[in-house]
Amino acid sequence: MNIIFLGPPGAGKGTQAKMLIEKYAVPQISTGDMFRAALKDKAPLGMKAKEYMDKGQLVPDEIVIGLVEERLKQDDCKKGYILDGFPRTVAQAEALDKALAKMGSKIDHVVSIEVDNKELVKRLTGRRTCRKCGAMYHAIFKPPVNKDVCDKCGGELYQRDDDTESTVMSRLEVYDAQTKPLIDYYQKKGILKSIPGIGSIDDIFNKIVSILGS
Ligand code: ADP
Ligand code: ADP
Ligand code: ZN
Repeated sequence: MNIIFLGPPGAGKGTQAKMLIEKYAVPQISTGDMFRAALKDKAPLGMKAKEYMDKGQLVPDEIVIGLVEERLKQDDCKKGYILDGFPRTVAQAEALDKALAKMGSKIDHVVSIEVDNKELVKRLTGRRTCRKCGAMYHAIFKPPVNKDVCDKCGGELYQRDDDTESTVMSRLEVYDAQTKPLIDYYQKKGILKSIPGIGSIDDIFNKIVSILGS
């Protein structure tokens, strides 16, 4: 099953994707995670992406599209995948459709997670991530048992550089201007499933599973 998770920054895409990949045994492909990993390795891709990420802007389409096309060719994508944070522009969505058609493949479902801006600001400014395993926490909504320590692996929790209030505001504006049109794009294709992203993480997960089928 080939799935896209659509939704504004902070909607819970990463949180839900990490739960789903366990259930469906498919990889999560997060372009944001790929850029952060490249930056950690001091790779040129990471340095380039950081220029945009720090300002809350999108990394240029040509960089992102090439990266995802290469990733989708890897063996672990044969049984399906969850795209988290890609596509983010209509140009990316069109390039994805074209690349998949060439491979004789397609997207099966687009899950759009909807959350209002006031809640998104709270979620993003309180978000904490494990440096070691990538598990997601929230200072108030999903705190770890021990402050700044990952429940799963004991790794250190950190706050992303772009989760500050000022960068968050520009990311939300960029979402409205450049990514929101994708809701319409996938609606027209008849593969969009919208779900409210408010409520407990488990309830939202169950809703997504019931939409996708187990
Ligand atoms: P995205 O990948 O869409 O940017 P995340 O999955 O990283 O979003 O979630 C953003 C923040 O909100 C994280 O700190 C996460 O723990 C928290 N969060 C996720 N889902 C919920 C929820 N249903 N209720 C409250 N907080 C949530
Ligand atoms: P979020 O929690 O906002 O959903 P991500 O980790 O998906 O965050 O993305 C972080 C940043 O990485 C974005 O603000 C953007 O600068 C860059 N980025 C990630 N995916 C894309 C993409 N598909 N197109 C352009 N830029 C991207
Ligand atoms: Zn961890």
